[in-house]
Amino acid sequence: MKLRDDLGTLEGYHSPQVDVAVRLNTNESPYPPPDAWREALLDELRGTAFHRYPERDALELRRAIGALHGVDPEQVLAANGSNEVIQALCLAFGGPGRKAAVFRPTYLMHSHIARITGTEVVEGERDETFALDMTELDRLVGNEQPAITFLCSPNNPTGRLEPPEAIERVLSLGAGLVVVDEAYGQFAPGSAVDQIEDGKPLVVIRTFSKTWSMAAARLGYLVGPPEIITAVEAVLLPYHLDAMKQAAGRLALRFRAEMDSRVSTIVEERGRLVAGLGELPVDVWPSAANFILFRPRAKDGDKVWQELVERSVLVRNCANWPRLEGCLRVTVGTAEENDAFLSALGEVLA
Ligand code: PMP
Repeated sequence: MKLRDDLGTLEGYHSPQVDVAVRLNTNESPYPPPDAWREALLDELRGTAFHRYPERDALELRRAIGALHGVDPEQVLAANGSNEVIQALCLAFGGPGRKAAVFRPTYLMHSHIARITGTEVVEGERDETFALDMTELDRLVGNEQPAITFLCSPNNPTGRLEPPEAIERVLSLGAGLVVVDEAYGQFAPGSAVDQIEDGKPLVVIRTFSKTWSMAAARLGYLVGPPEIITAVEAVLLPYHLDAMKQAAGRLALRFRAEMDSRVSTIVEERGRLVAGLGELPVDVWPSAANFILFRPRAKDGDKVWQELVERSVLVRNCANWPRLEGCLRVTVGTAEENDAFLSALGEVLA
């Protein structure tokens, strides 16, 4: 038995699941979903015909997601987390002999999943402030003509928004599909969903893992022109979305006001965290998401990460990622968690 040659050098992507009091490493919501949602889901599960396959097209869920964005259900595809959406996009539009473009630093799973599907990854560099540079975009997309170009807004792990002109610029270069990953879209104003049009190769990814407080449910989705949605559907497994998940998502969308208020609280806490970090010897990047990237000025990032763990605070260690030497990323938590983080970091850097 021999592993595929191109998979041999591929390392997994994961964040350690360490047992600590304050977990601020994977950009989840710090708040559980509303109790009323849990009750509604339990009621629904009591009536679920578990001996039958789930509704194959997940039409009710897609209708509810479509209503949220003002689009038709035919413009929505739901999947097991937005990572599965990325995989399906790569399977449908990438694959051997095709390229996917990413701009570093960005969400590592875009290139990781692309490689797993046999898609060649071509990499551009963001500028020194981690903004997307239009000259670099022209160079990479113009020269390489990738089948897929990934943009990420707000970008993970930098928290920066992509420039508004980036989408049209890629489209004007004549290269394939533009994928805008908006996993953190609700924490920032606006959405590329408004730019979706029939016949235009633009799609937007969203997730229930962050704002909707449902990381455990593994539900994400794609919005795009119907012909692209149909093409992506073709690579998904039959009945890929189980009945429990379909119900969980559909019912969550009835609690929009509760979710919006969670987002407002997190955005306020983000401001407080940025202010707190501003008083410590660290460089901080402004963030439009539910996390903040920072770099201790005088102490090694790995060491700071370890000393935070010793104080029962877990953040994401990006210190060894390309372009992010010495950086750490903290997810915005509850007020108490953010205070615990700031005081532990103050101690570590004292
Ligand atoms: N896109 C981005 C930019 C992310 O940061 C994440 C989660 N870390 C995902 C997609 C995947 O989210 P999920 O599979 O939980 O929907």
